[in-house]
Amino acid sequence: MRNDPPVAYNLKDEAISTGIPGIDRHVHLEGGLDPAWVLKQAGAAGEHVPDSLEALWRGEAQPFTGFIEAFLFSSGFLRNREAVRLALSAIVGRLPPQTVGPRGVDLWVSPHFLVCHQQLLSLEELWRGLEDGISDAGRSNVSVAVVLDAVNHLGPRHGHEVLNLVENSLPKFVLGFSTGGIEGVPFRDWAPVFARAKSMGLRIAAHAGENGPGENIREAILDGGVERIVHAVKAVGHPEILELLAERRIPVDVCPSSNQALVSDLGAHPLPVMLRAGVRCALGTDDPGVIPCDLAGEWAKAKAMGLDDRELGLLRRFTAEDAWALSNEPSAHGC
Ligand SMILES: [Zn+2]
Repeated sequence: MRNDPPVAYNLKDEAISTGIPGIDRHVHLEGGLDPAWVLKQAGAAGEHVPDSLEALWRGEAQPFTGFIEAFLFSSGFLRNREAVRLALSAIVGRLPPQTVGPRGVDLWVSPHFLVCHQQLLSLEELWRGLEDGISDAGRSNVSVAVVLDAVNHLGPRHGHEVLNLVENSLPKFVLGFSTGGIEGVPFRDWAPVFARAKSMGLRIAAHAGENGPGENIREAILDGGVERIVHAVKAVGHPEILELLAERRIPVDVCPSSNQALVSDLGAHPLPVMLRAGVRCALGTDDPGVIPCDLAGEWAKAKAMGLDDRELGLLRRFTAEDAWALSNEPSAHGC
């Protein structure tokens, strides 16, 4: 399923120092469907598109509950292997056509949500659809790493259910395990789930410091053993947390469009502050089928935040160096 190892990323190369890497460092399968395809499916099924989703498609901010409603509606059409393949195809299609360096997608997928909670398709259909999509992506020289997503606020019991579901059929393209959703359950309570996922050969990430306080980032790292943080925008204002992220070289995926739409008290996006504090930030699109955006647009937003050439160079370097899709390490589990 994986492509050949990428060539080394050479910052001295002038082309690389001015271009956009074709690497989406954080995107959800369930939030990646093409809006036109979702509209067509809704029409065919006679289902009304919720106001929250239409508002998000128009670029209007929504409360997190409105986003969840929109996300549930859109992802509700992941009803078979082909829909999964098309969702991944839409995500790969949002990479800019002209990029520099190796191309890749770190793809968050919620198997328990799709297979058990929503009962949209079987686990086998999900894996097969991902396999098809990853094969398609490979033909465009795009590597894909899948990260399993569990829902933080459903707690560690739910986390174990996610692992129970997949443990006997974990494909090699699954490299990680993560929590997402509302940051409602302390990360120290998740530590046993993270430890079990690690024992299954998975790397550990968490959405933290997005809809919860900055302190969650510290706890995820120190008490949960998390090695990668998604968003972490609430780290700003906490110098000790920025220092922790920098010192431990924790990769952080930020998604400007998503953060601006969903983090109500965000203010100016903290990416420049985080980079200047030495945090290894990278850019992702998060849910580009629900909150319309693409990677080129996210890079344009980053540039518009006033990053200088050195900071943009760092952002490019971190984006490539820490991408799990481009990791040369093989998956540590057997299927
Ligand atoms: Zn996310």
